[in-house]
Amino acid sequence: MNDHAPGAAAPITVVGLGSMGQAVAAAFLDGGHPTTVWNRTAAKADALAARGAVLVHSPAEAVRAGGLVVVCVLDRKAARDILEPVEEQLAGRGLLMLTSLSPEEARETARWATERNIAFLGGAVMATPDLIGNREEASVLYAGSREVFQEHRSALELLGSATYLGESAARASLLETALLASMYSMFAGFYHGAALVGTEGVTAEEFTALAVPWLKAMTTFLPGQAEFIDRGDYTTDEQSLEFNKGGLDHIIHISRSRGIGNDVMRPIAELIDRQIAKGHGADSVARLIEGIKHPEG
Ligand code: NAP
Repeated sequence: MNDHAPGAAAPITVVGLGSMGQAVAAAFLDGGHPTTVWNRTAAKADALAARGAVLVHSPAEAVRAGGLVVVCVLDRKAARDILEPVEEQLAGRGLLMLTSLSPEEARETARWATERNIAFLGGAVMATPDLIGNREEASVLYAGSREVFQEHRSALELLGSATYLGESAARASLLETALLASMYSMFAGFYHGAALVGTEGVTAEEFTALAVPWLKAMTTFLPGQAEFIDRGDYTTDEQSLEFNKGGLDHIIHISRSRGIGNDVMRPIAELIDRQIAKGHGADSVARLIEGIKHPEG
């Protein structure tokens, strides 16, 4: 796989130059990698070509250019339409898929690649294109071929922090989904809080000044919650589900009295009520995950 001069930055090919693909190719160029690019609409390569990228005119030429092949097109169908005609040329090569895939699509694409002796690495980009290259704020989660990840690690770190999650190709996409789920529910809680303080004339900006340090402090409890979850034992002598029920009911009552909807808070209260009804009121609030893992009709 490694056919460049010792010490020189390895050649890389980027297929797909939408907003993300352009940012990715630019980061490789800035890192000194000889970078070959292809895009269906060739004009999108102009700025990269001016900076030294080699523009080729077909996916086959792009693959022939050698090095790691990075695909960053819209979706799985576009990626397949590009890759299937060049699968023989890809044999024995490393393929990094930055196109967003579902966990099942990633698993299926990895299977397709393995059957063709293509070393598949999937990447879930946790950043917008303008953040690519910023190691503090951009991160990419990788899963699939450990060999491809290790061989190209220094290049991958040009995009943002690089985390390898193991050989199961579904993991990058699944972990990305889980992180986004955590983010959306945190945002929704913030919106509820902002709506609540708005009834007293407090602006969202004022609320944010308090919410940011508060939420940061609350994240320090997550490792302890994770311990309960991984043990599967929620026994605690600290804040119990019963205790938290009081807190949730209070929020719901105050919100209702202020004309604020409880669409965000109600599902949490329902999860708590369900665990208490099952006799787990003295357990840690981390037990809520059991209600999520085993939904009831
Ligand atoms: P984009 O700006 O819309 O670009 C889409 C790219 O896919 C273009 O290069 C486009 O080519 C190409 N394409 C679409 N259909 C094609 C087809 N049938 N055949 C060949 N090429 C085709 O999208 P993007 O923002 O770069 O996103 C690319 C991937 O990165 C997506 O899977 C996206 O989910 C993922 N991603 C994006 C972001 C983000 O913030 N942008 C963040 C994380 C992950 P043309 O130029 O010829 O149309």
